[in-house]
Amino acid sequence: MAWFNRQQKGIVTPTELKREAPDGLWYKCPECKTVTLSRAHRDNAYTCVSCNYHTKIGSAEYFEIVFDNNTFTEMDENMISADPLNFVDTKAYPDRTKATISKTGLKDAVRTAHGKINGLDIVVACMDFEFIGGSMGSVVGEKIARAIDYALKNRVPFLMVSKSGGARMMEAGFSLMQMAKTSAKLALLAEAKVPYVSLLTDPTTGGVTASFAMLGDFNISEPKALIGFAGPRVIRETIGKDLPAGFQSAEFLQEHGFLDFIVDRKSLKPMLTDLLHLIK
Ligand SMILES: [Zn+2]
Repeated sequence: MAWFNRQQKGIVTPTELKREAPDGLWYKCPECKTVTLSRAHRDNAYTCVSCNYHTKIGSAEYFEIVFDNNTFTEMDENMISADPLNFVDTKAYPDRTKATISKTGLKDAVRTAHGKINGLDIVVACMDFEFIGGSMGSVVGEKIARAIDYALKNRVPFLMVSKSGGARMMEAGFSLMQMAKTSAKLALLAEAKVPYVSLLTDPTTGGVTASFAMLGDFNISEPKALIGFAGPRVIRETIGKDLPAGFQSAEFLQEHGFLDFIVDRKSLKPMLTDLLHLIK
């Protein structure tokens, strides 16, 4: 008798002893080191089930959270950056963008789309930190400007999700112009009384904080997000004073009147819906 012949027929494993096949991917919280299934983490809006740490996510995830059934129409999705200054650092700028596009699958540091949130029309522009530190160059400015144009033309509320290291060094002055351009477009939106909600996520800094991110009818943030213009060291050296604890955190900014409220990502969609009902 061969040892590999099955002797017993009908061997079954009771359901409670079956292990669910893992996704092959586990998520380890960088804050409290709790390990969960990636799927459970995703179902929890990418926040830690144990300490509520809000993982940094990109436009794909925010679109999935905000838009009904993850259905939306993306605008200007193929716009990519030119190289107006022939900029070269350790790499030529066009090579850097090309490499980043193939690495991330993104075309630049912002994606814009329109769709529905609990049945209400909304235009969303969401930044991607993965793309050269979420830096604001001409493409970011132009896509946001066009998304605002669409919101204005169709009288649809505009949501901006910011996550940025600031202006894009490789476009220098062209980057800085985007601050004025987006701010001017937002002024038109305000004049037409179309609501604008700005969600600042971790981190929102530099020229983005100094322009569209702080110009919302409502400026809201995720818990513990880092929000600031310059880094703490630069400020400390400029004013010659030590900075208070928690300086540049969302909580500190709310306490000092810079933010209207802080929203847990799990309640983002219902909160936005309530807000839009309130101000429409
Ligand atoms: Zn955690």
